[in-house]
Amino acid sequence: MALVQRTIPRAIKVAGVAGLAGLGIYCTKQFPTVFAESNEPKTVFSGLGFTTLRLQSIKTVNHNTKRLVFEYSDETARSGLTLTSALLAITQPEGRWLPVVRPYTPISDLDEPGRLELMVKKYPEGKASGYLHSLKPGDSLKFAASLKGYQWKLNEFSQVYLLAGGAGITPIFQLIRGVLKNPQDQTKMTLIFGVNSEEDLLLKEELDHYATEFPDRFKVQYTVSHPKENSSYGKGYINEELLRSAFQGPTKNTKVFVCGPPAMEDALVGSNRSPEGILSLLGFSKDQSITAKMSGQTRSLYPEPNVLISSLKVGAVSGSAGLVYGGISGVIRSPHPVIHSISCGIHWFVCGTSFWWLRSNILKHHYKDQSTPKQRAYVSALSGGVAGGAVTRLMGGRLVPGLVVFSLVGYVGQSSYNAIDAWQMENANTPSKPFLQRMADSKWIPLKSLSDDDYRGILSEKLLSIEAEIALLDEKIEELEKFKSTELESAVSDPAAK
Ligand SMILES: Cc1cc2nc3c(=O)[nH]c(=O)nc-3n(C[C@H](O)[C@H](O)[C@H](O)COP(=O)(O)OP(=O)(O)OC[C@H]3O[C@@H](n4cnc5c(N)ncnc54)[C@H](O)[C@@H]3O)c2cc1C
Repeated sequence: MALVQRTIPRAIKVAGVAGLAGLGIYCTKQFPTVFAESNEPKTVFSGLGFTTLRLQSIKTVNHNTKRLVFEYSDETARSGLTLTSALLAITQPEGRWLPVVRPYTPISDLDEPGRLELMVKKYPEGKASGYLHSLKPGDSLKFAASLKGYQWKLNEFSQVYLLAGGAGITPIFQLIRGVLKNPQDQTKMTLIFGVNSEEDLLLKEELDHYATEFPDRFKVQYTVSHPKENSSYGKGYINEELLRSAFQGPTKNTKVFVCGPPAMEDALVGSNRSPEGILSLLGFSKDQSITAKMSGQTRSLYPEPNVLISSLKVGAVSGSAGLVYGGISGVIRSPHPVIHSISCGIHWFVCGTSFWWLRSNILKHHYKDQSTPKQRAYVSALSGGVAGGAVTRLMGGRLVPGLVVFSLVGYVGQSSYNAIDAWQMENANTPSKPFLQRMADSKWIPLKSLSDDDYRGILSEKLLSIEAEIALLDEKIEELEKFKSTELESAVSDPAAK
């Protein structure tokens, strides 16, 4: 009861602030609809929330890449995305409980009405890319809010070098398309596109077309690490020698954008292990190069997720759970169940927010977002203990029990998540058998399900027995023919016998 009384004024203040914030978010969500009545074209991705799009068509580009065209429900609507944006696709690969969210960069004109195109490379065992490759025209896909990338400003640089590797061409292509579309933008661009083989030269037709149409503004050079014999392309990776010949030399007004496989990005811009990259050898300072990491680690072309916002979201979820829990326990054991519920909600909100904030910062700064599942369990235990212990103490409880209990909650929660994730990964990588086949495989069922090899064995046995029967028949026919010929001979030599 003492705990409840001490928290009433704070509870009311926080509830008021939360209410105003909620009203703000509600208004932000509603206003675009009001403005949509104006003559401005409707935009699909400008608001908050999810957007579901129907897959209109698919085009296979090569052995691992497809182009997917999605249509908007309103054929006059536009994407509403700004240059260097990616969309978060929410996929649901088979065998996984939780959706897998991955960013993809539209390659179509961002202002094109009615449609949007993605180009997706399928990675071996890739969860989201595998799912996207399995989609058929007519299927739909949910997208979350867009990831805004580098804020491109008109004529900010006189020369931009674009270094792309493999599927890393998509963000670079979006940039090229957007810059060249604007006649006022006079930025000169040179693209160096490195791939493994000729068939990986994605979007080549479009790039060659731009190079011909805008010879003063855009140049492209390809390099293939494993070209065919007599290939007309330069052989090799994007290395120091190639860049020395392609670059005009760094000037104050020059920028380099890099997007490709991790090894290529590390070699060009440097990594933790070897901070000196090729670009710095060529005289480019760190802030002259921008890297868009496509492998889901640190990204600088795309902003890193905002730790505060994600912590507030975790706080909101745990706060809601606290409200429900507080409501139920308040009805059972408190004369003021509403106040009990609000106080509990606030307690859980603060606990959840500070836990997630601590956990995210430790993982980010100490482990550089490269932690193992075990390390994440320890970090969750530590953050849970510190956040839970402190909040319990602030709310009038005892520090040590709070610390111990919340450390355990953090550790057990993270370990369970790790176990479920590992189990899901295993399931996702093992193709599941149909129900009837699983039944037939069961030791309790007297039927046996046959594999292809079993079938082959049975068929070859049958073939052998047929061949043996044919051999026996051949023998019999031979005997009969012999018998017939001796009969004939005896009939000819002794006609009286007939
Ligand atoms: C801002 C941004 C924009 C992107 N735009 C596109 C796009 O337009 N088209 C596109 O195809 N992809 C794009 N990606 C990459 C995409 O988001 C996924 O990372 C990719 O499709 C793999 O996801 P997955 O779930 O299939 O693979 P996972 O299941 O996560 O991984 C499967 C295997 O593939 C490896 N792997 C995953 N991603 C990469 C990678 N990028 N390079 C090398 N190995 C990798 C993993 O190490 C793992 O071994 C973008 C990424 C970012 C950050």
